[in-house]
Amino acid sequence: MTPNDFVDAVLPDVIEWQQHIHRNPELGFRETETADFVAGKLESFGLHVHRDVSETAVVGVLTAGNSDRCIMFRAELDALPVTEATGLPHSSHVDGAMHACGHDAHTAMLLGAAKLLSENPNFDGTVYFVFQPAEEVHGGGKKMVADGLLDRFPAESVFSQHSWPGVKEGAVIVTEGPIMAGVDDFTLTFKGTGAHAAMPELGDDPLVAAAEFVTSAQRIVSRTVNPRTALVLSFTQLHGGRINNIVPADMEVQGTARYFDPALSDHVEAQIMRIAEGIAQASGIGYKLDYRKGYPAVVNSFEGAAIVKRAADSFLSNELVITDEPPSLGCEDFSYLLNAVGGGAYIWLGAGEVGGRAGLHGDQFVFNNNLFPVGVRMWLALAETALPKGS
Ligand SMILES: [Zn+2]
Ligand SMILES: [Zn+2]
Repeated sequence: MTPNDFVDAVLPDVIEWQQHIHRNPELGFRETETADFVAGKLESFGLHVHRDVSETAVVGVLTAGNSDRCIMFRAELDALPVTEATGLPHSSHVDGAMHACGHDAHTAMLLGAAKLLSENPNFDGTVYFVFQPAEEVHGGGKKMVADGLLDRFPAESVFSQHSWPGVKEGAVIVTEGPIMAGVDDFTLTFKGTGAHAAMPELGDDPLVAAAEFVTSAQRIVSRTVNPRTALVLSFTQLHGGRINNIVPADMEVQGTARYFDPALSDHVEAQIMRIAEGIAQASGIGYKLDYRKGYPAVVNSFEGAAIVKRAADSFLSNELVITDEPPSLGCEDFSYLLNAVGGGAYIWLGAGEVGGRAGLHGDQFVFNNNLFPVGVRMWLALAETALPKGS
């Protein structure tokens, strides 16, 4: 049998597993039944399975040959708090929960690869199959790293695949460098003394300070960062005051920063602090900055992206291996794993054009079944390419 025959043979199982998980979605850190299902499959394939790693995470270990080299493949277990509106026969049985990001399919494809690789190991070394909880909001990847995932399962590189609507159907997209944005949120509070609106000299007007801040902070993007570098700084909320004849004592400014260069997170925080401090001093008031660092940017390593390209080239034609797709300003907690391992890549599987509610996180999202063979083959090719026999 050729690798294609093996993949064709496992696809009915993969689709059945995806539909089972799709019918029974579980939200972040509550993926107990999904984890049971995944662990049961991995055990039936003969993998060593670990359930005591972090929350509901499942890790399967498969070793072949003599090499002590190790790589890690990752998929996600969690669903979203969305009520499904696809009308599909295998629609979610749970109101207010849906696999609207395709994590059910990512998990099923990785299970399919684990089955095929356990039957026909085409690699020399160890592959860790990591099924992680709570990608969407709660940072399950961050928690796994903090709980010592890589102390127990040290890997030289880590890979993950995600279905990506809006890109050529059936293509594998991998770029060296940034692929998903880093995200921070902040709340800046100016604290002063309120006053009667007709007697402003009795207070120090933090509202004027907040207005000055929003204007002055525009210089962070326009004057402190190389114009070729992507950085978004948006102010999204201003809160303060209750009535027209009182100048408020407090003003709150909230906003968000998006960037690809990880160094910009500290830069933006420091610049906000510097400008807020200057304005607060000039106004004779106080300030407090709560700067919350979110998921870091996903930055594919040079070597990780090169391995993915070689692997994809081994089974796809040139026009289906895309290496120059612009990155997304969406975010992904795969960055924690990738940063901790120090090498690897986040791979998009092109899902073709889809409309609004059928996009990622939409209540009409439907995973494109044509991607199942591509995703499974991609895993097999990655094992073979990253851990070649006789290396
Ligand atoms: Zn998502
Ligand atoms: Zn996702």
